[in-house]
Amino acid sequence: MSGTRGGAVQSPSAPPVTRPMQIEHLRQRLRALGAKPAHEARFLRAWSQQRSLDTRRGRAQDFFPLALQNALPALDVELARLARVRSEHAGEDDSARLLVELADGQTVESVLLPRDGLCVSTQVGCAVGCVFCMTGRAGLLRQLGSAEIVAQVALARRRRTVKKVVFMGMGEPAHNLDNVLEAIALLGTEGGIGHKNLVFSTVGDHRVFERLPHGEVKPALALSLHSTRAALRERLLPQAPRIDPAALVELGERYARDTGYPIQYQWTLLEGINDGPEEIDGIARLLAGRYAVMNLIPYNTVEELDFRRPSWEAAAEMARQLHRRGVLTKLRQSAGQDVDGGCGQLRARGEAAAARLAGRRTPSAGAIRIEAVPRP
Ligand code: SF4
Repeated sequence: MSGTRGGAVQSPSAPPVTRPMQIEHLRQRLRALGAKPAHEARFLRAWSQQRSLDTRRGRAQDFFPLALQNALPALDVELARLARVRSEHAGEDDSARLLVELADGQTVESVLLPRDGLCVSTQVGCAVGCVFCMTGRAGLLRQLGSAEIVAQVALARRRRTVKKVVFMGMGEPAHNLDNVLEAIALLGTEGGIGHKNLVFSTVGDHRVFERLPHGEVKPALALSLHSTRAALRERLLPQAPRIDPAALVELGERYARDTGYPIQYQWTLLEGINDGPEEIDGIARLLAGRYAVMNLIPYNTVEELDFRRPSWEAAAEMARQLHRRGVLTKLRQSAGQDVDGGCGQLRARGEAAAARLAGRRTPSAGAIRIEAVPRP
């Protein structure tokens, strides 16, 4: 499924699933209703920014072709159905987790972040299978269409201002690359979001480094590193592409220099696993002097799991040591961590509740996604 625009991952016996909506399909429909490029742009701007179709330059009824005007109410309903809030869970830090229902009833999570940020999901489930992540446990269920990704932004903008979008929610954006890039292209143009405020987060994939530099909109890049030791990284991220950490940093550095935005390295701190002197040496060796920011994010402990969260003081000491060794390091708290821990948990709880009602068993809630939990 990686890199395809396909929708659902189906077993032979699974019922047919409606294809998720792509922005290009929407554009084609607008054109079929008589839209010219200016109509298309105004429509997409109004939808993605949640603005009125009327502008200073004219009212919609004087601007759009009649066929499109007549279709607007039905289009509105259809777009609103792409992403609806099933439940909202406010955090103490001005963040809020949204459990978002898609048109086919699947759910993903979006997180409203402090300081006008938003974290969106790109897949239902994930195939990377990071051992500390809830989202990865059930594997990949389906890709999100590009319009479903933008619909999460539209949904958030109905609630508050959004000036930054991070692709750190459920899913590995590199595994849904065409759709994520199409969404980024819209958000960076008609969507009105600054290119460096679109943050593509990945475990590292050669296709990302091949495609991103050539896009009209070049997002900032966040790389989930978690270890500088290749063997440990393979254990923590079992299905991530086998790119040596040093090679990954080289690729990231090239992209950072090309775009002029530093790479953000994400590091979920797991006590006794990747918070020791060996890793501090490894990080200093790979990142000192690089155009990069290291984000240390202490793991959020989950009862059912063996992973432990290091103390804040131990994490702060690690950050200080890295600073002293020339690595710009930030110690981050996961946004909204008081709300059900991390990304993937709301969905898992919803699924478990549905399964209980249906008398089914679900996989135990054993892991929690940390690296993908948005940080401001
Ligand atoms: S942490 Fe991210 S990449 Fe890893 S399994 Fe979870 S969603 Fe996928």
